[in-house]
Amino acid sequence: MLARSSARALLRRPPFPTGSGGQTPIVGASSRWLTTLGHRRQQSTATADATANANDQDVASIHNNVEHQQWARQVLRDAVAAAEPRYTWSKEETAAIYHQPLMELAFQAAQVHRRFHNPSEVQLCTLMNIKTGGCSEDCSYCAQSTRYQKGTGLQAKRVETVETVLEAARIAKANGSTRFCMGAAWRDMRGRNNSLRNVKEMVSGVRAMGMEVCVTLGMIDAEQAKELREAGLTAYNHNLDTSREFYPSIISTRTYDERLATLGHVRDAGINVCSGGILGLGETDKDRIGLLHTAATLPSHPESFPVNALVPIKGTPLGDRKPIDFTSMLRTIAAARIIMPATIIRIAAGRKTMTEEQQAMCFMAGANAVFTGEKMLTTECNGWDDDAVLFERWGLQPMKSFAKSAAPAS
Ligand code: SF4
Repeated sequence: MLARSSARALLRRPPFPTGSGGQTPIVGASSRWLTTLGHRRQQSTATADATANANDQDVASIHNNVEHQQWARQVLRDAVAAAEPRYTWSKEETAAIYHQPLMELAFQAAQVHRRFHNPSEVQLCTLMNIKTGGCSEDCSYCAQSTRYQKGTGLQAKRVETVETVLEAARIAKANGSTRFCMGAAWRDMRGRNNSLRNVKEMVSGVRAMGMEVCVTLGMIDAEQAKELREAGLTAYNHNLDTSREFYPSIISTRTYDERLATLGHVRDAGINVCSGGILGLGETDKDRIGLLHTAATLPSHPESFPVNALVPIKGTPLGDRKPIDFTSMLRTIAAARIIMPATIIRIAAGRKTMTEEQQAMCFMAGANAVFTGEKMLTTECNGWDDDAVLFERWGLQPMKSFAKSAAPAS
């Protein structure tokens, strides 16, 4: 156990081992590294003089490595003990948490989860596409972009009618969903006054059913956000997708800052922010840390943080990507739970490819929302009946509407 004063000293800066090239080392790898170093020492006795200087450097590296581990453990301990969400994470602190040994990370995330949430409750959300295809953006993972239409064969459709959407919401509610999300494949809402009027009618109709209601319509400005809020909108989804650095490899038609501007308009209008990322785009751990760090240092944490696993769609630029490994998914969920303790962490796209046990592990480590129903935008989704069986088997229960956030006045 570290004395308080030395713990405080360690927290002042992240001590990186020499030769790490400025990269945060993987904390769990150090014991293996120390053993290797020990073997190297035994072999070097015959050339002791020649290697004396090198060994001095090794000793310094070990010292720094141990110091870094102590610092990283202290960062984790403080994060787990925090009484309320914190918004001042450094990237190094985020990385220190992300790189904890996975079982320890999941266990500590589970502890945080139990302090901030009822761990038996998982929110059931249904996502409906109210406008399919024909989008002018070039998100490399998306079937709805007109740029990839030739390859995907997806035909653009007209906007769904208000009555069709409300009927779908009624069915979702009857099957246990308490949140209804509507997605439209639009770049933004400029010049879409009729569409905005229709969407507001849909929002009011869903709210009248007592459900939480979320929309994802692309970029919106302050006035549009205000109008949606007045119609009763609970949450607005606009994902960060990935790190600021990796983002231009995935999308070129709008910037990271434009995304952040929309999130600002949503927040300023008093609407809950739903914003997360997609894993498996070809990003590295560093990008996943960048995504987590951006979300956790917003002026307030997103009320909902969806973690999507890329579902590769043939015909899109990422159509041949290999699925993300489950451990990265779990690590991201657990780290998100620790640095954004009050947020709803949502297992979003790609849940269909996860085993029941993998899903349970995610729920244990802090995930507490899923998409359920017939379809999730253009991809397959776990159905209500399957989820009812899963919940029964693992002792989970659906979260009630507005259990985690106040209903905005409409
Ligand atoms: S903005 Fe949305 S609908 Fe349009 S291409 Fe990107 S992800 Fe697809």
